[in-house]
Amino acid sequence: MNLVRKLAEFYGPKLGRTIDPMTEVITTAGATEALYALVTALAGPGDEVVLIEPFFDIYIGSVIMSGATPVHVPLHYRRQPGAKERSSSEFVLDEEQFRAAITERTKVVMLCTPQNPTGKVFSRKELEFIADCVRPFKNITVVSDEVYEWLTYDGIEHVRFATLPGMWDQTLTVSSAGKTFSVTGWKVGWVVGPAPRVQAIARAHQFIVFSISTPFQEAVATALTEAENIGYFATLRDSYQNKRNLLFSSLDEAGLNPVKPEGSFFIVADVSHIKLKDHQGRTTLTGLCPDEHDWRVCRWLTTDVGIAAIPISSFYSEEHKTTNLVRFAFCKTDDVLEAARDRLKTLNEKL
Ligand code: PMP
Repeated sequence: MNLVRKLAEFYGPKLGRTIDPMTEVITTAGATEALYALVTALAGPGDEVVLIEPFFDIYIGSVIMSGATPVHVPLHYRRQPGAKERSSSEFVLDEEQFRAAITERTKVVMLCTPQNPTGKVFSRKELEFIADCVRPFKNITVVSDEVYEWLTYDGIEHVRFATLPGMWDQTLTVSSAGKTFSVTGWKVGWVVGPAPRVQAIARAHQFIVFSISTPFQEAVATALTEAENIGYFATLRDSYQNKRNLLFSSLDEAGLNPVKPEGSFFIVADVSHIKLKDHQGRTTLTGLCPDEHDWRVCRWLTTDVGIAAIPISSFYSEEHKTTNLVRFAFCKTDDVLEAARDRLKTLNEKL
């Protein structure tokens, strides 16, 4: 009760409206359950869910379990001529491709900003384009996964999709205590949006977990109040920006062509030039993992260099799969990031 009240009070000014805590907010078992519950509630066999790739891999599981059909729209990496370093803003939507994916069959569009895995922060212009595409289809819900809402860097603005003209009625904003307070294991997430859609999620949620743990909700309600009082969000951002800079420069020095993220706590880096020897990166415990380039590089990085990364192909459908990137994370202590810098220095001699 305290948490839904707090969330209504907290997001009201951010979304520019008065939010009813009882009908327009629901708390969930992390953002993970929110995503599962809302896809279950809003889409089923015969419906389509649009996924912008690369996407947080949880999305596809929810879509498959709902029986709906995923429709994949890839971001394209286009280097800005003359740019000093690579940037996540260079991942762009092809407008024609996106528009063509939106039809009468579309029920949900999954949006993630700041994005996992690229760190892209969708600009107001890009979001307005998406809004223009969905506005004529009142049955479409845009799920705006904003779990990294507090993690944007270099003064880049996080635009809340629900604040765009007319979009409140069509948007479910998802976030969580997990990223904001570094407590993913607490599994406290939430959805804020118009009552009919939030109540649809409540019907699904009721049969998934029924309700979530009360003590953790109380703790998060208190944390949100305190966070505002002590300027926590700015401190969090500054600390992550330093961590981003540290990991980015370490990857850069190792020749991995990192793409500087405008947000989130991930960095994708290009490993296409890494030439592994025949035996490198091949061993797996289960023998079930793909033998593709990005998977092999990630295995080799883990076993031989001592740094774990995630192959980018796990964030793509088969249709648009690419194997040239891997994803690193900087949600680590500075000591760990320093150790990573030392290990990355040995990367080229281990090849
Ligand atoms: N959305 C995104 C984009 C994420 O990266 C994550 C966590 N990796 C989640 C949702 C899930 O959040 P939670 O830990 O609150 O379940």
